[in-house]
Parts: sequence; structure tokens; C-alpha cells
Amino acid sequence: MKVNGSILTENGLMEGHVVVENGIVTEISERMVPYPDATGIVIPYFFNHHTHLGDSFIEHIPKLPLDRLVGPGGFKERALRSADDEIMIAGMKKSLNLMKRTFTSGFIDFREGGVKGLELIEKALQGHEIDASILSRPVEWKEDEMEELLQRSDGFGISALSDHDFDDILMAAEMAHERGKLFAIHFSERIREDVGQLLELRPDMIVHAIEMEEEDFQAIADANIPVVICPRSNAFFGKRPKVKELVEHGIDVRVGTDNGMIAKPDMIAEIRYLYLSTPKNERKYVERILTGIFERKGLKERSVGIETGRPALLVKAPWLHPEKGILGNSEIIPLTGSGPDGRDKEDTDSD
Ligand SMILES: [Zn+2]
Repeated sequence: MKVNGSILTENGLMEGHVVVENGIVTEISERMVPYPDATGIVIPYFFNHHTHLGDSFIEHIPKLPLDRLVGPGGFKERALRSADDEIMIAGMKKSLNLMKRTFTSGFIDFREGGVKGLELIEKALQGHEIDASILSRPVEWKEDEMEELLQRSDGFGISALSDHDFDDILMAAEMAHERGKLFAIHFSERIREDVGQLLELRPDMIVHAIEMEEEDFQAIADANIPVVICPRSNAFFGKRPKVKELVEHGIDVRVGTDNGMIAKPDMIAEIRYLYLSTPKNERKYVERILTGIFERKGLKERSVGIETGRPALLVKAPWLHPEKGILGNSEIIPLTGSGPDGRDKEDTDSD
């Protein structure tokens, strides 16, 4: 099938057409075709840059401040420790099914609970064709444990500078870098943390970056550290991501859904929530971070735009203002290359 419209490519949005056969893009062109099978905005599948699928099973959250809810020794940690393995795995599977239904092709998870935690998500992932990057977290902070975690995962995803001994975190970061693995950490979510210490860790990305001053933004921009924002999770704690400041400093902004118990891992819901909850005069900044909901270079050496050989989605909206089309409430369907309007048989998958 041939689709005319606005196409999100590696170099940004361009007008033209794509050809899709058997669910795979086979041709991308800057020329429109006569009599297309569909029109709209063609985008890649989504990529969720920050999840904690492990707490998806928790349904009732007490009203507690951030540190007592998700900090060390808090409600979430106790819930994870006392939960039955099968219930936790079922919660993760439910989130994985939701990601599939909402067109997310990959994600980066912060997996708590050391080696045991890794085993649980490995079980949950069985039978799922999703590109999962799992960042593990030490429990004992001993070298042997960290070595095993790095062998079995894609790197470390650490709670926060204020939650652990800095020397332990630094050792974890150095071990991850030496082995070519990722190192990521939440930063300045609840309180302002030390950007000097952060830079010493040379993180591949940081999450939140809210309670920051001008010099922090500047330092993170200069060090070229991507920032993952999680708007619905922030809103739960009465906070907002600093989109305007991040964009103005030229920082690479990506989007994730954070704790499964707070927000379901649905990227469309996440970015559209951010757009609609942003004052109209600042929405242009959200439009500028749009590519942060797709897969980025650097983590997997993959480009962010539509490419031949990969599947694509169609936003059924006029393509004159593609950013507004994607961020508004238009329907999004997979381009399968078969069936009327590119729509395949209804997905009968259930959770
Ligand atoms: Zn998080």
C-alpha cells in the first residue's frame, strides 16, 4: 500500500509517501503519489525510555510524599519485597501486553531487586517480541554481585544520588562503563542534587531533572547527557518536567512512563498528557521534543525516524501541522500493508 503525508524521518518531518508491504516499509520518497491508499502522518513505533515494570502489580497507592512512597525503605520497596513472584511476573506481563497494544516496540526498564529482580523480568519477557533493555540495580553493592548483574543485564539503573553512598554509585558507574554497559540514574526529582557528583558518574542518561538551577541545566547540556522526562509520574507528586528549560539549553529530551503502579506504560497517553497539560504558549517546546518518544541513536545505534525494513504507524490526521496531529487526539493505527485503510484484523490480544 502507498501512503501520502508527512513522514517522520531521521532528518525530521518531510512530505512525501511511503510504500508498506506486509507491515514493513519498503520505500520512502519525497514525492507524493496519485491515488494513495491512505493519507496522514507516518511515524515509527514508540520507544519507552523509562519504566519500572516491576511495580505494575501494585493497584492501590497510599498518599505519601515521594521519598516515603518510592524511596529506599518506602512503600514500594516493601511491597516489592513482600510480593509473591507470580503476582509480580503477572503484573509485568500485563504491562508488556499494554505496550504491545499501544505500539511500543522497545523500552528501558529500571529493574530493582538485584539478581532475583532480573530473573523475574526474564520470566515475564518470555514469549514477548519486544526490544527490552534491562538496567539492573545492586542490592548488596558488592563487586561480585555487580559483576553478575552487568553480565546478565544491559547496565545499571540507580535510584538517586541521595539514596546511596556516593562511592558505591561511582564504583557501579565505573564498572558499567568499563564493560560497555549503560549507566543511568534518577536525578534531582525530589530535591536538588549535586551536579558535580552526577558528572563524575558520566551517566548515559538521567531521569527527571526537575529540581535544578541554571548552572545544573548548563552542566548537563555541556556534558551532552540526555534527560528522560516522565510527565504523569511527576504530576502524581505535584511536579512538572522542565521541558522549556531543557529545550532552551539544547538538551536531548526523551520520554518515559516511570512507575507502572502510577502510570501505565502507554507512550501515546504520556506525550498527549504532557501536551494538553502544558500552557498553550509553551506547547511549542513539547512539539520540539516529539522525537523523544521514538527510539534514539546512541542507545542502540538505531535512528529515530521511519526506515525501510521496519514497521510504521499512521496517525489519521491532516499532515499540515504534523506535530499537532501526533500530539492531539487522532487515531493511530499500524500500517500493515493489507486490509482496508492499512488496518489489519483487530488485535484480539487480551491481558
Ligand atoms: Zn523512575
